[in-house]
Amino acid sequence: MTAHTNRKVVLNKRPQGEIADDDLVIREEPVRELKDGEVLLKTLWLSLDPYMRPRMNDSKGYMDPIEIGATIVGESVGRVIESKSPNYAVGDVVTSYSGWQEYSIIPGDAPMVYKIKDQGVPLQAYLGVAGMPGRTGYCGLTYVGKPKAGETVVVSAASGPVGTVVGQTAKQMGCRVVGVAGGEKKCRYVVEELGFDACVDYKAGNLEADLKAACPDGIDVYFENVGGEVTRAVAKLLNKGSRVPVCGYVSAYNAEDASKVETPFHVFGAMGENKPEHRFFLVTEWQDQHQEITAHLAEQIASGKLKYSETLAEGLDNAVGAFKGMLKGKNFGKQLVHVAD
Ligand code: NDP
Repeated sequence: MTAHTNRKVVLNKRPQGEIADDDLVIREEPVRELKDGEVLLKTLWLSLDPYMRPRMNDSKGYMDPIEIGATIVGESVGRVIESKSPNYAVGDVVTSYSGWQEYSIIPGDAPMVYKIKDQGVPLQAYLGVAGMPGRTGYCGLTYVGKPKAGETVVVSAASGPVGTVVGQTAKQMGCRVVGVAGGEKKCRYVVEELGFDACVDYKAGNLEADLKAACPDGIDVYFENVGGEVTRAVAKLLNKGSRVPVCGYVSAYNAEDASKVETPFHVFGAMGENKPEHRFFLVTEWQDQHQEITAHLAEQIASGKLKYSETLAEGLDNAVGAFKGMLKGKNFGKQLVHVAD
């Protein structure tokens, strides 16, 4: 055994609806010695992402469910503190899918592990707008949404890391960009700081009329992040030839019975002549462009062209509370857990 003790968050019980107190619990265990070829990572930052909630259910989605007793999945920024692999040196900083834990051991040839190259941006940005969510927004918009200059692009969960990148990228492409977000504070930020043309507060009680007023020429691209009432309001305004990249539908992630949820596919699939070209996509479809797009987004941050905000929880003990809050919109921008320095 090494001198380190690992703390990790494991799935104790499958949540029924919202996560209850004993669904996720913290376990401790000693960190074992490395075998040849392995690397020991100390987690510095942990990313909390909406997709983790459906993976706690016992239903196969586009990824396998987390097993009972297993560590909750998640991407992190970690530092190499021991290495028996020629591929990594002590001090290297990487992103990896280490899960919700303070230490992790990975094979030196593990896939989806990337060394962070210093581009002058904070490390945790590689879990947010310069990381998986940022690439999701960039690729989904560019390759599935295919916006053209002058078109109207609407994005929901607009102040989050995916929405932030979608909106600012669409502005750079010459589009009219309208966000949808929960609450006046988020909407003001989206317009005043991120530079969207308008942002509709879906919690203000006037969603359909407010969206119509913000989109006088209809909607050409809707980047779907939330589902539910926002999807139904958007559907009424979609133009002929419109495109909808279906990225996720977070409003349904806490549903007790996922099979009874009205998904965006039900709404868009039932439309008549203005039925949009729509499909679900996964960010990993463009995994071959990981390095290039990450470098592009980091450069945009460094040069001040890509703005973002983040919400920080301190320590693994606060990860579950922060995660539950994020699924209800309590986060303001990328939700992270600061685990160690
Ligand atoms: P966010 O940081 O934006 O967090 C989720 C946000 O969803 C909340 O802040 C909240 O914002 C909004 N929300 C929560 N409940 C509701 C509701 N009932 N109705 C409407 N909005 C709600 O998340 P991300 O930017 O990380 O992710 C955005 C989406 O992208 C998610 O659906 C996620 O699953 C998806 N995704 C998909 C990937 C893929 O490969 N397909 C990869 C990565 C992410 P507000 O307060 O504004 O409502």
